Amino acid sequence: MRAPAARAVALACLAAFASACTNDTQPFPSAADAPVRLDTHIDIPLDYATAATDPLTADLQVNLTKMAAGGLDAGFFIVFVGQTARTPEGYAQAAADAETKFAAIHRMAEQLYPDRIELAYSADDVSRIASRGKLVAVIGVENGYSLGPNLERLDRFYELGARYVGLVHDGDNDLARSARPSAALGDPDAATGVTPLGAEAIARMNRLGIMVDVSHGGKQTALDAMRLSAAPVIASHSGIAGVNVHPRNMDDETLLALKADGGVVQVVAFDAYLKQQPEEKAAAVRALRQSVGFTGGTRLSSLPTEQRATYDAALRDIEARWPAATVADLVDHIDYAVKLIGVDHVGIASDFDGGGGVTGWADAAETANVTAELTARGYSREDIDKIWSGNLLRVWREVERTASQLSAASN
Ligand SMILES: [Zn+2]
Repeated sequence: MRAPAARAVALACLAAFASACTNDTQPFPSAADAPVRLDTHIDIPLDYATAATDPLTADLQVNLTKMAAGGLDAGFFIVFVGQTARTPEGYAQAAADAETKFAAIHRMAEQLYPDRIELAYSADDVSRIASRGKLVAVIGVENGYSLGPNLERLDRFYELGARYVGLVHDGDNDLARSARPSAALGDPDAATGVTPLGAEAIARMNRLGIMVDVSHGGKQTALDAMRLSAAPVIASHSGIAGVNVHPRNMDDETLLALKADGGVVQVVAFDAYLKQQPEEKAAAVRALRQSVGFTGGTRLSSLPTEQRATYDAALRDIEARWPAATVADLVDHIDYAVKLIGVDHVGIASDFDGGGGVTGWADAAETANVTAELTARGYSREDIDKIWSGNLLRVWREVERTASQLSAASN
C-alpha cells in the first residue's frame, strides 16, 4: 500500500509542479482570478517604442516577451527625468523628455502591441485587463522636476495616464528635499522636506487621484508627504534601512509612520540598497565603464560585439569578486518590513532598466523566483498576493476614493 500511496503523492506533486510551470511559461496569463504580479518601477530609455527599441524584444531587462515568460503581469512604466539646473532651459528639456516617454508608452500599448498590453487608468483596470490575458501597463512619473514650477502640468500628466508621481529624484527640486542632495547643483546642507509648492502639488495630486510617491525623498520629505496628503502615500522603490543603512532606504520611524498612514513600501531589487558593497566594487565598475566609453547616456547594446563581450567578461569577474545581492537579500528586506509594519504595507519593485536587478531576479523572465523565495520563507498564498499587488491596489483605490470625495466636496 505504501508504494502506490507514495506514488500518488509524487504524481500529485508533479501535476502541481506542471501546472505551476505552465502558468509561468505560457505566453500570457489566462486564469480569470489569477493574482496580478505587479512591479511598480520599470524604467524605459528615451528611444523606447521606436525602431531602435522594440518593446517586444528589446535587449532590456523588461520586454513584453520576458514579462510573459516570467509571469510579470503588470508594471508601472516610468516617465523619468534626471535632475539638472532649475533654469528655464532645464525645465523645458525635462518637460520635453517627459512628453517623449509618455508618448512612447502610449505607442507601445496603443499602436505597436494593443493585442498584448493595455494601459490601466484605474486600479480596477489592472485586474480587468489581466483577467483578459493581457499584460498591464501603468504610468508612473519619477521626479516632479518635469512639472517645472507649473503645477497645472499635473492635470496633463493625469490625462496622459500618470497614476503616481515621485516628488523628487537625486538632487533637490522645487517640490522636495532629496535623499541624495546634489552639491554640484548647489543644494543646501539642510534637512528640509516638502516645500510650500510641494504641498500644493500634493493637494492637487489628491484632487486628481494621483498617488504621491516618496521614494528618493529625504526622511523629512517622506514624513511631510504623509502629513500633507489626504490619502495614503507610496514608496514606489525603496530599501529597508533596518537591514542595510543607505540614503535610499527607509528607517523604522518612517516605516512605522507609513503604516499609520495606510501606505505601502515597494521593496526594490537594487543591489547597492539591499547589501553593503565596498567602494572598490563601485570603483572597478566605473573604471570598466570608462574603458569602453560607456556612460549613463549610451546603451550597452550599442557597443560593438567584441567590446561588449570584453565588457561582459570583465563585469562577470567583478561580480565574482564582490557578489551582487540575491533574491534572498531582497526577501530579507521584505521580511524585516513585514515584521515591523505588517504584511498589508509591503510590496515589490524591480527598478529594472534603471539600475535594478539582483542575482535570481535579473530580468522580468525570472519573476517566478521571487514568488518561490516568498513561498520558501513560509508566506501564504494570500500574503504573497497582497505583496505582489493587493496592497498597492488597495492604496490606489483609497487615492481614487479620496479624489472623488474631494471633487464632490468642491462641487
Ligand atoms: Zn529611482
